[in-house]
Amino acid sequence: MVIMSLLFTNRPREDDVRDGKKPRAAETHAEGACPHARKPLNVERIPGRETFVGCTSFFRRVTMRDNTFFNEMGRRTFVRSLISGCVIAGTGMFGLYRDSVSYAAPEITQPPLPYKEDALEPYISKKTIEFHYGKHHKAYIDKTNELAGAAGLGSLSLDEIMKKTAGSAGQTSIFNNAAQAWNHNFYWKSMLPGARKPDERLTKMIDSSFGSYDNFIKELHNAALTQFGSGWAWLVLEQDKLKVINTSNADNPVVHGQVPLLTLDVWEHAYYLDYQNRRPDYVKAVTENLLNWEFVASNLPGNA
Ligand code: FE
Repeated sequence: MVIMSLLFTNRPREDDVRDGKKPRAAETHAEGACPHARKPLNVERIPGRETFVGCTSFFRRVTMRDNTFFNEMGRRTFVRSLISGCVIAGTGMFGLYRDSVSYAAPEITQPPLPYKEDALEPYISKKTIEFHYGKHHKAYIDKTNELAGAAGLGSLSLDEIMKKTAGSAGQTSIFNNAAQAWNHNFYWKSMLPGARKPDERLTKMIDSSFGSYDNFIKELHNAALTQFGSGWAWLVLEQDKLKVINTSNADNPVVHGQVPLLTLDVWEHAYYLDYQNRRPDYVKAVTENLLNWEFVASNLPGNA
């Protein structure tokens, strides 16, 4: 388009040449009035065309050629057309390039459950696990692959996608799905059939941070029950200190610089089939019977 513009605007009109008209631009340059000229201007006369030698401006050389059409159109219009042509051509080239690139989807897979679907009964039913793991969690994994692939993030891990999109306007949907996929991966491992107690190192840390194990449980219950709407309750490590927090929706301690050690899903889909609206009963059942303290210990720095 740019080349066509140049060719078109540089063609003299044949009737002007035939009638021997001297273009205004040619007169101006022949008289040495071109402000861009560093040397005396020469006029190279070619039948049907006049080219000025000595004008150092490309645009001036182009625009001062004998061209009645161009003189009528005006230099500003020509320059605008030139810029518009470049923008349109550039946009078209980018579109062709973009369409020719097919982004690879990430290969994030859903980790297998660390136990059978009925292993957490009677506290969490097989039916809840089937829906929660088989439908909700899987949907977050699938959607993350779809959205991250379309956004050109296919080479990143789930952890990297979550960190990269956290707080990024326009990538909220990718973050929500990636973080929910991550949180559920962590949630399944936070539970295990059979009541256990923290090991000696964890017990000391709990006593130091909360005063006692019972106080820790109270704080965890409070975090789970005061979380308005959907979210998560967490035990995290923050600057060598244990802390209980809650997060809304898909939010995650990792993107806030904290080390997650344990989590409890308090979205309704985690308990509604078994407990309906009785979130306290679900929280009590899990914290008294299913906490996986071996997993908590493995998340402490130096224990991985
Ligand atoms: Fe969930």
